[in-house]
Amino acid sequence: MLFELTDEQRMIRKMVREFTENEIKPLDMEMDRNGFNDALWKKIKENGLLEIPLPEQYGGAGGNAITGAIALREISRGSASVAITLDAHWLATDIVYHHGTEVQKAKYLPMVSEGSIFAFALTEPSAGSDAAGIQSTAEFDGSYWILNGTKAWITNGGISDLYIILAKTDEKKGARGISAFLVESDTPGFSVGKKEDKMGLRGSVTSELIMNNIRLPKESLLGREGDGFKIAMMALDGARISISAIALGLSEAAREIAVDYATQRTAFGRPISQFQSVQNMIANMDIGIRNTELMMFDTANMKDLGMRHTKESAMLKIYSSEMAMQTCKDAIQVLGGNGYSRDYHVERYLRDAKIFEIGEGTSEILRMLVGSMSLNK
Ligand SMILES: Cc1cc2nc3c(=O)[nH]c(=O)nc-3n(C[C@H](O)[C@H](O)[C@H](O)COP(=O)(O)OP(=O)(O)OC[C@H]3O[C@@H](n4cnc5c(N)ncnc54)[C@H](O)[C@@H]3O)c2cc1C
Repeated sequence: MLFELTDEQRMIRKMVREFTENEIKPLDMEMDRNGFNDALWKKIKENGLLEIPLPEQYGGAGGNAITGAIALREISRGSASVAITLDAHWLATDIVYHHGTEVQKAKYLPMVSEGSIFAFALTEPSAGSDAAGIQSTAEFDGSYWILNGTKAWITNGGISDLYIILAKTDEKKGARGISAFLVESDTPGFSVGKKEDKMGLRGSVTSELIMNNIRLPKESLLGREGDGFKIAMMALDGARISISAIALGLSEAAREIAVDYATQRTAFGRPISQFQSVQNMIANMDIGIRNTELMMFDTANMKDLGMRHTKESAMLKIYSSEMAMQTCKDAIQVLGGNGYSRDYHVERYLRDAKIFEIGEGTSEILRMLVGSMSLNK
C-alpha cells in the first residue's frame, strides 16, 4: 500500500464499511427490483454520508478526494446504486463549493447536512458526448434569467432539492456561451419528466428534467457567464475519480463472490479453483483491481495537491470501467450457470458496471481526450 491514510480517513473508512455491511449491502438486491429505498436514504442522511467531502464550516467532514474515493469504494462493495447517487450529489456540491459566491455557499451548502441531495444536469436528449451542443437556453430579461429546455439522464432527478443546470447564454459562442445555474426544485416551471427504466443501478433514480420558462434571480448564475462548460469539465475531472472508486468497489465485490465460489464448487472431483483457467480469471481480476487502486489513489492525490489531472482521471476511468466489466463478466463465468441467476448477485453487478463505460464521458470520448493530450502537448 503506497498511500498512508490519515487517522481521520481510516475512521471514515471504518464507519462507512460497517454502515455498508449492515445497512446498504443487505438491501441492494431489493433495490434492484423495487428501486430507490427511502428508508435507507433516511439512514444514510442521518449517518452523515451526504456531507463527507464538504468542509467543516458547512457542516461536512472535510474529506478530500482521497477520502471521497475511499468512501465510494466501500459503499460500492455493498451497492453501486447508492454509490452513484452519492457520486452525482458530491459532484454537484463540489461545484457549488468551488464556484459559488460566499452568499451562494452560505445559502446552499448547509442544506446538505440537513438532508438535501443535489444533482448535476448537463446531458440533453440530443447532446451527451457533444456536451457543447446543448440546446437549453437562458436569456436575461434585465431582471431575471429565463430558462427553457430539457435535460436527460439526470442522476437524482426528482429526489434533489438543488440542481446545477447548464444552459446556453450566448448561442454564437459555442462552449464559451454556456453558463451554469442553481435551480431549486420548487421553482415554478421546473418539473421532472420521464423516470428511466434502467438496465442497472436500479436503486438509483435517473430522470428527465423540464424547464418551461423558469425565472431565476440573477444571483442564480453560478460562476461567471460563459464559464459553465469549463466548470462542468473541471468537475468531471474529479467525478471520474469517484466513478472509478465505484468501479473498483463493485469489482472487489464480484471478485469476492467468485473466489468464495471457486474454492467451494467441485467439478471432476476437485475444487474448480484448482483449474488453471479459473485461476487465470481470478489473476486477471487481481491485476485489474490492483492497477485501479494505484491509479485511483495517485489521481486523487494529484487532485488534492491542486495539480491538473484531466488526462490521468480520463485514463483511470477508461481503465477502471473496462476492468469492472471484465471482472463482473468473469465472475459470472466462474459461477457457471449460477452466475446467470439473480440469486448470486454477479449478474446484477455486470448490469451495474456497464454505466461506468458510458456516464461522465464514454470510453470512446475519453480515449480521444487522452490521445489528443498525448500527441498535442
Ligand atoms: C445511468 C445514467 C446516469 C447519468 N447521469 C447523468 C447526470 O447525472 N448528469 C448528466 O448530465 N448526464 C448524466 N448521464 C448522461 C451521460 O453522461 C451520457 O449518457 C454520456 O455522456 C453519453 O452521451 P449520450 O448518451 O448522448 O451518447 P452519445 O453521445 O450519443 O454517444 C453514443 C455513442 O457514440 C459514441 N460517440 C459519440 N461521439 C463520438 C465521437 N466523436 N467519436 C467516437 N465516438 C463517439 C459514444 O462514445 C457512444 O458510444 C447519465 C447517463 C446514464 C446512462
